[in-house]
Amino acid sequence: MAFDNLSEKLQNVFKQLRSKGSLTEADVRAALKEVKMALLEADVNFKVVRQFTKTVQEKAIGQDVMNGLNPGQMVIKIVHDELVSLMGNDKAELPLKPGNEITVYMMIGLQGAGKTTTAAKLAGKLKAKGRKPLLAACDVYRPAAVKQLEVNGAKVGVDVFSMGDRKNPVDIAKAAVEHAKASGYNVVLLDTAGRLQIDEQMMDELVAIRQAVTVDASVLVVDAMTGQEAVHVAQTFQEKVGIDGVILTKLDGDTRGGAALSIKAICGKPIFYVGMGEKLEDLEQFYPDRMANRILGMGDVLSLIEKAQANIDEEKARDLEKRVRKAQFTFDDYLDSMEQMRKMGGIGSILSMMPGMTGGKAQELESMVDEKDLARKEAIVHSMTKAERANPDLLNLSRKQRIAKGAGVNIAEVNRFVKQFDQTRKMMKQMPGMMKGRGKRRGGF
Ligand code: GDP
Repeated sequence: MAFDNLSEKLQNVFKQLRSKGSLTEADVRAALKEVKMALLEADVNFKVVRQFTKTVQEKAIGQDVMNGLNPGQMVIKIVHDELVSLMGNDKAELPLKPGNEITVYMMIGLQGAGKTTTAAKLAGKLKAKGRKPLLAACDVYRPAAVKQLEVNGAKVGVDVFSMGDRKNPVDIAKAAVEHAKASGYNVVLLDTAGRLQIDEQMMDELVAIRQAVTVDASVLVVDAMTGQEAVHVAQTFQEKVGIDGVILTKLDGDTRGGAALSIKAICGKPIFYVGMGEKLEDLEQFYPDRMANRILGMGDVLSLIEKAQANIDEEKARDLEKRVRKAQFTFDDYLDSMEQMRKMGGIGSILSMMPGMTGGKAQELESMVDEKDLARKEAIVHSMTKAERANPDLLNLSRKQRIAKGAGVNIAEVNRFVKQFDQTRKMMKQMPGMMKGRGKRRGGF
């Protein structure tokens, strides 16, 4: 997860600060020296680091802090607030015109940054919000780019406008907007061509598209894992084409986090979203305060709740609770629960948002979960008939033998799983009493 190393280092510095009742100026200076090292190691731009530590130092050595009741805690708060400010304070929203007026986003970036994937992710999000997006395939150079957009568009249920790879991208962009107007779409996402490196021709083409159609936001997609190179790319695109903000991809694989912490300060442009995985639902709004919380090991419970709200079918959840209360939990429910967890990004993603889960702790816990074992259990359930899934009591020896064969596991494994499942159901039988107690307490508030 992003910022793991930085997070661990900062938390060590702060542990020492917290343990002291009072702080001297020398304590603060020594701590900030370590903060500076940690930021540089996280590949944060050196100018940004210099400014950051200077500001924190000025604020932290002020009278109010040093003489305050809990100086260590106050220094941490100053660092937290400065991190938030570094990343832009408030969340940045992409502009969206009201009603059926057409909003056009131009997605730009280098090849491999994740532009095509991100365009589809964003289109999917817009669709979920009730918009009518249209993806337009303007990358006519990369072999298979049009096809890739079509495949991803289909996955998120968004139409793709393409004219093959023989037309000029400027003409395609114009035609896409015309088509959107005529067919009732209200957001157009232009997936433009990238290159391996920045080159003049690519920049000229982007400028030409901007001149030919009204672009409401020019969105640069950059790869977080390239660190300061991502910041350099952002600066160049800003100078040559003009950008309104950034989507930072592959933050899931970036253990340092330098790009996320430097882009706003260096280019003056905000981060709209961050890519947190290859799947098309792995795009998250970027909240500077929540990110600062994660960096400082305070968790990101708000994002966790939002993720649950977006992915969990409430009716199903209520229904499940009812059946759990009546001890009617079935194998179908088991499959459903696994599916819901997957939709929330899996165990690792859920754990990483909990307070204190930094420095690789989430991964450590995640690695204790045997994915292959879970997959075998799912295969066992999939090999059951509908009737067996709904009524676990039907499972006799011959049925179990058939299931083992179907799932490609031995009968002992089926027995073990069914036994565990039975035990869970028995435990659930004892739960209604506990649940009632909880309900009463809740009602009392
Ligand atoms: P493009 O050349 O800029 O259009 O890049 P693509 O959309 O083809 O993406 C390049 C690779 O990066 C693909 O394998 C994507 O699956 C992967 N990718 C894109 N975004 C993310 C992300 O947020 N996390 C991870 N782990 N991979 C990503």
